[in-house]
Amino acid sequence: MCIFCKIVNKEIPNNTVHESEHFLAFHDLYPKAPIHILIIPKIHVDCFQNASAETMAGLTLFSQEVARKVGVDKTGYRLITNNGEDGGQEVNHLHFHMLGGAKLAWDHTHEDAHKSL
Ligand code: AMP
Ligand code: ZN
Repeated sequence: MCIFCKIVNKEIPNNTVHESEHFLAFHDLYPKAPIHILIIPKIHVDCFQNASAETMAGLTLFSQEVARKVGVDKTGYRLITNNGEDGGQEVNHLHFHMLGGAKLAWDHTHEDAHKSL
């Protein structure tokens, strides 16, 4: 069982922000912004590439609730998912990072970004 499935099953503790029947939001263990929340479906989906439209529809509304709950709906936030090896995905259970609480830098480009221009 993957680490986030264990969190859903309460085998590993988490700092829950918001929960519904199908989704869970909890604080990232190693925050990269003042607010860094992970948003996951409770069912195991390995990555965004394999996510269904139904899962993503639910995750959209749930993420909006999370943003309202922590107040970043007013101040702004970034919602990102790392998909696969080049995306830097480390946990193979679909998750979105909700980052906020400060003006975020944009530093996700690769050094080769301009080579094809
Ligand atoms: P990614 O690189 O997109 O797969 O992100 C995985 C994220 O999960 C990282 O930001 C980690 O800090 C976070 N993480 C790993 N284990 C835990 C955990 N037990 N509780 C909370 N966050 C975790
Ligand atoms: Zn899982």
